[in-house]
Amino acid sequence: LPHVLESETPRAGKLPRLGGRLCLDFINTVNSWRDPADFDRYLIQDDVLTDYKQIVYWARSVEVATETEAQTLFRLADEYPEDAAAIHERTLTFRNALHRLLTDYIHGREADPESMAIINFEIADTFSQSRLWWYDQKFTLESLSYDTEAQEQLDEFLEPVVHSAIELLTSPAELKRVRECPGEDCGWLFYDSSGRRRWCSMEDCGNAAKVRRFRERQKSATS
Ligand SMILES: [Zn+2]
Repeated sequence: LPHVLESETPRAGKLPRLGGRLCLDFINTVNSWRDPADFDRYLIQDDVLTDYKQIVYWARSVEVATETEAQTLFRLADEYPEDAAAIHERTLTFRNALHRLLTDYIHGREADPESMAIINFEIADTFSQSRLWWYDQKFTLESLSYDTEAQEQLDEFLEPVVHSAIELLTSPAELKRVRECPGEDCGWLFYDSSGRRRWCSMEDCGNAAKVRRFRERQKSATS
């Protein structure tokens, strides 16, 4: 199996984690959600999750998969390329539906029924494999999917993301704190724990806006 050197880690494995919630980091796996021609429309620019293996790199980087699990998934993807491709497509469909529901909520729109159906499909799939456990004086929900067929393991990384999404969507207090970065080539979502956060990243989008404002002011001062 290929040993990936730090510098050779694909972009999916080293995206900045600015979402503050796993499901928001999952949404932030495209370079930009904004249509460059129309700020108020969505059009994915430069999707980082270009194939199944990129999802595994991402899952590893956000600790949804251990190194050993990631190696297993890489191997399974080589063994079952069609299954891996199908799960890649399903993952993007889920991510885009989640983005749609959250941005509809942020903008005060009703939930989109088609996106609801996609999320509900993933919930059914995830919870059919989950069991409640009691140990160490705690309840935990754990997957039984390690018992199942190899092909079925390929979607393992989705389960924690689905859990994170459900937690966020069903908690009104949490949901109210989800923001959409107003960066021109961004639209990343993040959890605003301080109540004052405007940008996904001050260094990146915040700074770009500052530089632009500065230039505009300079222009108007000299004209
Ligand atoms: Zn941004």
